[in-house]
Amino acid sequence: MSENVEKVKCLIIGSGPAGYTAGIYASRADLKPVLYQGMQPGGQLTITTEVENFPGYPDGTQGPAMMEDIKKQAEKFGTDIRWGEIVEADLSQRPFRLKADDGKEILADTVIIATGASARWLGLPSEQEYNGYGVSACATCDGYFYRGKTVAVVGGGDTAAEEATYLANLAKKVYLIHRRNELRASKAMQRRVLKTENIEMVWDSIPVEIVGKQEGFAKAVTGVIVENVKTGQRNTLDIDGFFVAIGHKPNSSLFRGQLEMDETGYIITKPDSTRTSVEGVFAAGDIQDKVYRQAVTAAGSGCMAALEAERWLGEQE
Ligand code: NAP
Repeated sequence: MSENVEKVKCLIIGSGPAGYTAGIYASRADLKPVLYQGMQPGGQLTITTEVENFPGYPDGTQGPAMMEDIKKQAEKFGTDIRWGEIVEADLSQRPFRLKADDGKEILADTVIIATGASARWLGLPSEQEYNGYGVSACATCDGYFYRGKTVAVVGGGDTAAEEATYLANLAKKVYLIHRRNELRASKAMQRRVLKTENIEMVWDSIPVEIVGKQEGFAKAVTGVIVENVKTGQRNTLDIDGFFVAIGHKPNSSLFRGQLEMDETGYIITKPDSTRTSVEGVFAAGDIQDKVYRQAVTAAGSGCMAALEAERWLGEQE
């Protein structure tokens, strides 16, 4: 076998709570897992600040620190954690054949996919232009910068409602821009939004352009032009920050056509299991969960995936 080809019992793709927890369990089961971290080592929790709902931290913890801890725990038991991305996958025959971005080819007996999901963007050129300069997809990461200021959130689901109420505690005023005249969010979240005095609903509207100015070497957002979808009328809202909360998309494009997925690209797993439509391939965390999307549920399914991979390998002997 050429030195650019490596044979592994268990390949884990992704480094959020699901991937690292799979690493802890797979290494303790002596599967000698190799884990590729992907584009965002540590996953979505590395772009959050305070985590208060992960069991075991009565005083809360920081997302990036927590991910560093879980990573260390996986390494302690022997998970081989690597920088880089898996860029090609052929799951049509066993061992599965995958390729990393450094050209290394991996022949894997089992694969655990834990590639998570990423925030969706509106796709406006100005959104890209001001990304990081007043445009964000994470209120808990960036809300702090807008204390006493005016911000807008776009979206009508639970994420948008949650982000708007979180920001309302910090900002002077929050506009919640939604393309319909009814929120999709749960009734409880809707009530919270509608009774928060400094949240103003901007119904039936879509943002068409984010406007800003040059401030020294940096740029800053100063407003958003919204269009009423019923009347076509345009209006500029003066804001300092713009938060996009229109959902997430699963990072599953590598496996499209090879694994069963729903219409939005979430990998479908068998009931009460992380097994996918291909035997020997397991999926854990947000890539297969659009309902709970919590660090603790992702970690739990990472554990399940490693246990199921171990059992499945045992059955093949
Ligand atoms: P979501 O439920 O899919 O909502 C996305 C929202 O963005 C919708 O209101 C949608 O409008 C709007 N939208 C989508 N594309 C748009 C575009 N191009 N321009 C303008 N608006 C657009 O996503 P989510 O809020 O991230 O929630 C995802 C899942 O996680 C849900 O199951 C949710 O219940 C769950 N979640 C739960 C909690 C919690 O329980 N604490 C917190 C967050 C998320 P339409 O309504 O018109 O389609």
